[in-house]
Amino acid sequence: MINRPTSRSKSKMKQLQKGQRKYMRQANQAAPDDDTPTPAFLPPVRADIIQSAQGDVYKVEDPDYVEPETHKLVTYQVHGDQITDPTFEMVPDDLAAEAQDIEHQQEAWKLFATLIPPESRQMISQFVVMTDGKDETIAAVDYADDDPTHWALEVDIADLDDKDALVFDLVHEFAHLLTLNETQAAIDEELAKNPDDQTLLKNKAAHCPDYFTGMGCSRPGSYVNLFYRRFWRQINAEWEKIDGLQYKDDLTPYYNGLHDFYESHLDQFVDDYAATHPTEDIAESFAYFVFSPKPPGNSIKEQKMKFFYEFPELSMLRDEILKGTCRELSFTTYTKPRNCRRHHVHFRRMGRHSWEGDDDKDASAEFPGKRTPGKWPH
Ligand SMILES: [Zn+2]
Repeated sequence: MINRPTSRSKSKMKQLQKGQRKYMRQANQAAPDDDTPTPAFLPPVRADIIQSAQGDVYKVEDPDYVEPETHKLVTYQVHGDQITDPTFEMVPDDLAAEAQDIEHQQEAWKLFATLIPPESRQMISQFVVMTDGKDETIAAVDYADDDPTHWALEVDIADLDDKDALVFDLVHEFAHLLTLNETQAAIDEELAKNPDDQTLLKNKAAHCPDYFTGMGCSRPGSYVNLFYRRFWRQINAEWEKIDGLQYKDDLTPYYNGLHDFYESHLDQFVDDYAATHPTEDIAESFAYFVFSPKPPGNSIKEQKMKFFYEFPELSMLRDEILKGTCRELSFTTYTKPRNCRRHHVHFRRMGRHSWEGDDDKDASAEFPGKRTPGKWPH
């Protein structure tokens, strides 16, 4: 099995990174004024976040499309909730303003730090501000410098405006860290130093008795190995044939192959991006798990979302992320604090008690004034 997560890939595969999606969200998506817990009546905040993830990742509308250049602008060191010691890169003149926009860089980190609790993001030692222009890649994760035991979160400073998409992508990227960090998959230092050595990769994969992530051999009880064993064993051979096409010059067969693969397994993937790679599938399914109600059905894609509920620590993490999301979005994109309150009611009805005890305080006292309305996004 040769698998490379796209977040690590510096190859053509990068074209499939989430940011390339056409975000087709509707402004002010209509939401009913009740909390009926069905997918069609998601609370508005989470519905918009999920909606932001919809798009057609395979559709390359411009045959002459050229992947834009990515510029690293600033690298910060991460210490708990703080980012410090910025190292500024040499950048073209037209990016100088973004490189110096420390206020927005800090805001982008603060958003992530609010969404993800500190104990869950200890593997991150660097925060990288980069840009490839608007859209394209919104966020990514990579090893920090050349140290495969630590990670860097990368955020495109040009993509902070669509906060729904940003929140979704940050949670998706975090899911990579959750499922690929060294407690989950043994770090292969040799591979980390030679990420493009296909022979080495094949060799390492052949010697891994469990799921090989593309960066190392997963541990038997890791989320990604359990996920793979349950959901990918039947379809992996079919997918691998398509995945191998990405190394050819003409990528059309690869895109078409992925599209056909997704279409022929519609009941298995939460969206089309999830079908690009097992590690993308678990990351995307995790983001849907966070932002969707617990699915009522038993299709494979619903089983994938429910998979995470089997781990109490992930259910708790979901609650924390939703709490952070509500805190971040309730007074900026959405001006009604009661949206958050409604979430509490909604969760209670579903038998969840995550926010019990602090809901009234949050909704009526903490949220107002927590952020300056209109300050973000610009
Ligand atoms: Zn990803």
